[in-house]
Formats: sequence, C-alpha cells, structure tokens
Amino acid sequence: MRWIELSPGFACNCRCSGCFSCSADAEAQMDWPEVQRWLHYGRKKGAKHLWLSGGEPTLRRDFLKTLRLAKHLGYERIKVQSNGMLFAYEGFAERACAAGMNEVNLLLKSLDPKVHDALNRTPRSHELLTKGLDRLREVSADHPLRLEGDFLMTARNWQELPELVEHYAKLGLVHFNIWLFSLVDQGSRDLRRLVPRISDCVPAMIAARDVAKRLGATVCSLNTPQCMLPPTHWDMQFDAAGMDLAVVNPGGHVFMLETSSIEQGIYVARCEGCAVRQWCHGMRSDYVMLHGDEELQPVSAELALGYDPRGSILDL
Ligand code: SF4
Ligand code: SF4
Repeated sequence: MRWIELSPGFACNCRCSGCFSCSADAEAQMDWPEVQRWLHYGRKKGAKHLWLSGGEPTLRRDFLKTLRLAKHLGYERIKVQSNGMLFAYEGFAERACAAGMNEVNLLLKSLDPKVHDALNRTPRSHELLTKGLDRLREVSADHPLRLEGDFLMTARNWQELPELVEHYAKLGLVHFNIWLFSLVDQGSRDLRRLVPRISDCVPAMIAARDVAKRLGATVCSLNTPQCMLPPTHWDMQFDAAGMDLAVVNPGGHVFMLETSSIEQGIYVARCEGCAVRQWCHGMRSDYVMLHGDEELQPVSAELALGYDPRGSILDL
C-alpha cells in the first residue's frame, strides 16, 4: 500500500446531486480513536501518503488533530479533498497548513456560480469556494501547498471544461481530475439527465488537457476507457491500480481503489478484439445501462502502436 484514503465521516455542508458519500447519520462517522487506529494502520502497511476525504473532512472537530497526527506519523503527502468552503473563514487555511496539510483537492463544478450552487444544491457554495481558494493561495506563499481540482463532469457543465481548467490553472492549481457523473448506488431516475455522453465531451476533454499542458498543469480522466480517447491523449488515462491505494470508510470497510464500483467497469463482446484490453478497466456499468455500448469500439494494434495505453499519470 502506498496511499491510504481515509473517509473519517460522511457528514457534509453540501448536498451535491448524485453524491452518495454524504450522510450525517452516526454510523457514517468514525470516532477519534478509530481515526487514530486507521492512521497507524496505514503507516504499518507501508502507506506513505494520506488522502483525507469524506463527506467534508474539514467539518470534523478532529480535523486539525488528524492532520497533526498524520504529520507526526510521517505521512509525506497529506491531501485534503474538500469543497473548499470552510477555508473561506479567517485563519482556517493557516491552521490546517500548520497542522500538516500540504495538498488540497478542490471540488470544482462550474465557473458560473448559479450552476455550481445548483449542482451542489447549496447556496453560496461557489462564493465560499472562491474565498477559500484565495485564502489557500495566500497561505501557500509561506507553506508548501499543492492545489488540485476535482471536476465532476455532468451534462450541465462539460462544455466549460477547457475554460474552467484555464481559469483555475492560472490561479495556481497544478492538476485536475475529471470524474464522470455517476448513477452508481443512486438509483434515482431523475439524475439520468445529468450523465453526458462521453463522445460528446471528448473534444472538451482534449482541449482541457491541452490548455493545462500549456500552463504547466496536468489533467487526468478517471472514467474513460482507452477507446474513448485518441492514443495521443492516453497520458490522461488513470490507472487506479497504479495508485496502490486502500480506501477506508466508516464502519471499517476497507477496499483497494481499483475494486470500487466507480473504477471497475464492464466489457462488451467487442472488447475481446481490442489491443489494449489488458490495460483497460472497462466502462462503468451505470453508464452502459444508460447510454448503451456503441461508443466502445476495439482499438486496433496499428492505432495503439507507439503509445502507452497505461497512461502516464498514476498518482492523483
Ligand atoms: S462536497 Fe463532496 S461529500 Fe459533500 S455532498 Fe458534495 S460531493 Fe458529496
Ligand atoms: S477493452 Fe473495450 S472498453 Fe476497453 S478500450 Fe478496448 S473496446 Fe474500449
């Protein structure tokens, strides 16, 4: 294990459409002794890096204590995945950095506050994210702090991806992850309209990767099989197994990232003739059920020649 992703609790101050990691129920939260145990467990198993997720990890009373203990135990990269809202408050970003946080992944939905707030189902979430990012940028003058963005691609926002990446790369974000809106575990028919067809989004994804490259940043796409992207852009591919990351959720559920329903896709009969089948993680089943499998077309050995199908980004 190289990374441990610890979700100490699923409570959150947003109510994002399609999020199934958000619950204030008592059984969806770890207590402090449990958090301590998992931090020690990660180091014992060889994890060098901590990814603190949730829910919203900054909401927890033990947030700073968790960062301090992680630093004390020797975690090198201490990443906080956040909607960024609490960092808007005076002194909070400073305290988090002083406690050990050295990376932040901010949830980015749209440059348009109305769209961002609507997808988060939380008024003022864009305003607070913007203020929070300002504070984080100020703090990064004195503390080493890597800023990244998580973009949840939906039918409402995919068109603005290149512009959004350009905007945030110019504000200092150095890496962007593209996550495809998921219906996994959701089962709610009215959210189907939010899942875009990937082939519609590909030009915007390619443009975003090219904008990022020009500005010295990187883009990684987490839910696209190789056949969805041209081989020239396979460096955007994400190899979940390459992270060597164990996820720990409340209730003590532990699993390797590559086995999660979000990462593990399905194959269709045509995949058997695909030259990159052994490196492909397939397509998410909820996507295939919604949009069919016509977009999955085998890659020929000739097309793949000279390109690395594993992609080059193995570390979020
Ligand atoms: S901010 Fe994250 S955890 Fe909170 S509701 Fe949105 S996606 Fe879920
Ligand atoms: S194995 Fe199937 S899903 Fe994967 S790249 Fe090939 S055709 Fe696409």
